Amino acid sequence: MSREDYEVVIGLEVHAELSTKTKIFCSCETEFGGEPNTHCCPICMAMPGTLPVLNEKVVEYAVKAGLATNCEISQDSKNDRKNYFYPDLPKAYQISQYDKPLCERGFVEIETEEGKKKIRLTRIHIEEDAGKLNHDEFGRGSLVDLNRAGVPLIEIVSEPDLRSAKEAESYLRKLKSILEYIEVSDCKMQEGSLRADVNVSIRKKGTSEFGTRTEMKNMNSFRSIVRAIEYEVERQIDVVEDGGKIEQETLRWDDVSGKTFSMRDKEDAEDYRYFPDPDLVAIRLSDEYIENIKKGLPELPESRRARYIDEYKLTEKEANLLTSSKYLSDLFEDATKISKNPKAVANWIMSDIAKTLNEKELEPDQIPFTGEHLAELIYLIEKGTISNTIGKKVLAELFENPNKPSKIIEEKGWIQISDEGAIKEVVIKVMEENPQSVADYKAGKEKALGFLVGQAMKQTKGKANPQMLNQMFKEELNK
Ligand code: ADP
Ligand code: ZN
Ligand code: MG
Repeated sequence: MSREDYEVVIGLEVHAELSTKTKIFCSCETEFGGEPNTHCCPICMAMPGTLPVLNEKVVEYAVKAGLATNCEISQDSKNDRKNYFYPDLPKAYQISQYDKPLCERGFVEIETEEGKKKIRLTRIHIEEDAGKLNHDEFGRGSLVDLNRAGVPLIEIVSEPDLRSAKEAESYLRKLKSILEYIEVSDCKMQEGSLRADVNVSIRKKGTSEFGTRTEMKNMNSFRSIVRAIEYEVERQIDVVEDGGKIEQETLRWDDVSGKTFSMRDKEDAEDYRYFPDPDLVAIRLSDEYIENIKKGLPELPESRRARYIDEYKLTEKEANLLTSSKYLSDLFEDATKISKNPKAVANWIMSDIAKTLNEKELEPDQIPFTGEHLAELIYLIEKGTISNTIGKKVLAELFENPNKPSKIIEEKGWIQISDEGAIKEVVIKVMEENPQSVADYKAGKEKALGFLVGQAMKQTKGKANPQMLNQMFKEELNK
């Protein structure tokens, strides 16, 4: 059979660290970084005799996430212990939720080539993060850092509704943007605050049963998720085509070799010996509590998108890209508020900013400058202080060394030459150096003017005012 005869099936389990100030069961701070073991206390270090107390904000954030993804919110929920042994888990169990998650049966809409598609969510539950092992590079051992132990997480489990690496990527991007909009997680993938377990299987097209899946754990970049899925699909097809069987197992993706490796057999729920945590009370939510959270939800990407088309007259494509990330969308709104020129702001984001992000492999949340910077850049071009060409150089500089654009052009000496005398000098010089073009223009070849202006721009390193150059050339050529 050929590759086209197989269908890809993917389901994601996404972990998002919640941006509450304190941890889920103690009052230690959740902030990323910090010297090892400085954000911990007897509770998150699992000292005997300590008791957890559930942070109410965690429930609120999870309910927010559930409502923003069309879930039903369970009014009756609880915390369970998931037992396993690993050195980054000092209690030897993780407090999670088993059979009564806070949110169930939601969906997220993604755009595909065949139009909109609903990806169903099975559930969203709350749980605690584990600590982190720092492996000694000399192989002498590992040190455990418990700063992350007890940081609150939501786990968002999708149904196996995704049919390609591309769909998986759009789904994750959509989910990330929703979580950013409702401000429950900063979703910084490079810091591990958003990571996904990726489940992949294949089946012959037309069959109704799913194939055996493999699972790649803790993936935290879009690029590696897409590469890993593509690799894993090819590997599975090869196995089946060779008459083999897919083993249900947990795999590790290696970004350097671009391959997956077997880590361990897949564990089943019974291996975890789940049971209700006797140290915590059940979670009961009133209608009023849920209603209040619903009322407080901020504007979601879908509604911003519609507003951008309606209010700012942006195209569908512009509105889609700008609202794909809260950071981009905020950048757009902040800059537009100051510059009052939505089209120009959208243009800069869609072209030069998007291009730079792509080249540098950065996510929008890593943009180092603000909407105020972008607005000033646009203002300097509108005012004629700098040309568009210099504007592009300023933007590149904003990515390297964010500073006020007016400061940048002053320091770099990039201010546009608008002095008539200086412009005239360049024009005369260029005309002297290019007698053929001058003759061509005089013989009626209008195009020669463009060439001369280009030469003048080159000599002034893009700093000459283009309108003045044009006009001055015309005057001198027509003399
Ligand atoms: P766990 O991995 O913790 O055992 P589940 O059995 O609930 O949890 O499944 C986890 C994820 O695997 C879900 O996102 C689900 O959509 C996905 N999944 C389940 N079966 C398949 C399959 N055959 N192919 C691809 N993904 C699958
Ligand atoms: Zn603590
Ligand atoms: Mg899993």
